[in-house]
Amino acid sequence: MIEVPVSAALRRVAPSATIAVSAQARALAREGRDIINLGVGEPDADTPAHIRSAAIAAIEAGHTRYTDVDGLPQLKEAVCKKFSRDNGLAYAPSEINVSPGAKTVIYNALVATISAGDEVIIPAPYWVSYPDMVCLAGGSPVIVPTSTATGLKLDAAGLESAITERTRWLILNSPGNPTGACYSEEELRALADVLLRHPHVWILSDDIYEHLLFDGLRFFTIAQVEPRLRDRTLTVNGVSKGYAMTGWRIGFGGGPEGLIRQMAKVMGQSTTNACTIAQWAAIAALDGPQDFLAEQTVIFQRRRDLVFAALAEAPGISCDLPQGAFYLFPSCSGVLGKRRADGQLIQSDEDFVVQLLKHEGVAAVHGAAFGLSPHFRISYALDDATLEEACARIIGFCSRLQ
Ligand code: PMP
Ligand code: GLU
Repeated sequence: MIEVPVSAALRRVAPSATIAVSAQARALAREGRDIINLGVGEPDADTPAHIRSAAIAAIEAGHTRYTDVDGLPQLKEAVCKKFSRDNGLAYAPSEINVSPGAKTVIYNALVATISAGDEVIIPAPYWVSYPDMVCLAGGSPVIVPTSTATGLKLDAAGLESAITERTRWLILNSPGNPTGACYSEEELRALADVLLRHPHVWILSDDIYEHLLFDGLRFFTIAQVEPRLRDRTLTVNGVSKGYAMTGWRIGFGGGPEGLIRQMAKVMGQSTTNACTIAQWAAIAALDGPQDFLAEQTVIFQRRRDLVFAALAEAPGISCDLPQGAFYLFPSCSGVLGKRRADGQLIQSDEDFVVQLLKHEGVAAVHGAAFGLSPHFRISYALDDATLEEACARIIGFCSRLQ
């Protein structure tokens, strides 16, 4: 095979583990294997009918051309209304970026602002893509471990100790992927107090799981908790998770106009606008009836409880109850050092998920990919019967280890 010249930046980047596991699960299913995919992080529901209809209407109305690079004015208006309605944040349309997914909003912000040697603080465990996006943008990820004592969330001391002169950004994600942990108003307040003392640090708040929050908890985002941070915060969100629109690829961010302008410059030379039809669909999602969000929360809370209770029966597996998103992030420390009947030894969380997929047909993602071992991530965005079957297979697998 011809040797491809790979850039120095890309050589520092690993393939996305969440995407790799899902691809592997899909490939095995195509070969006829009975696979349950707990690897992919996306809602199983169809996009609501009124949103699908809006997309069809957009096509029929001829909305099939380029839009303004960083979003349709009508969508920016809808995003402003959303931030005001849900988060008490007042943004003008000139302070809004619309990109192909929240992933691209984050990437555009990092590419627009990071120079070689700039540091980005990322609390671990983290969503797989943050450190690699920082590397791709030429910066240095600074991974800050968290402890179970703080619910695997960053606290003021951890933040303070990670800040240097080179810190450009802090990335926060609540409710979090892979833990489902959610920052309370008080916890954000404590972080905000540290950040107020370090005016050179910008904050990227990834709120993509905002609407998937359980037990009646209220969602807070840092620019709302401390308005004095607003002008150095990018509040990122999107329609992928809440409205079951992962494939439509619409994310958005609210931030100071100067940053938004630089992000548009990146888009103007790379992606151009997010899909025009999907933008019209996103307007229907944000401006239309919001009942779907509450319905999904009820469904996901029930599934969380189902999987959490079932896994308590799996020998060697232990888990904290997540407050949001659709993930469980159990520890598998109790199975390390054990063997299958055929002699196969489980030495790491990666061994655990590899063996689980091979022998039980259950796909999950190893904790190392999220910066914390020995854990594994389960996405429970599947129907109850499938989840029950998946848990039975995990329990069976763990019970047979010696
Ligand atoms: N942030 C987090 C924490 C996520 O889990 C995801 C989903 N992959 C994203 C951002 C990106 O979402 P999307 O690009 O589909 O809007
Ligand atoms: N957010 C999802 C996950 O973590 C989708 C895949 C991705 O973009 O990483 O599995």
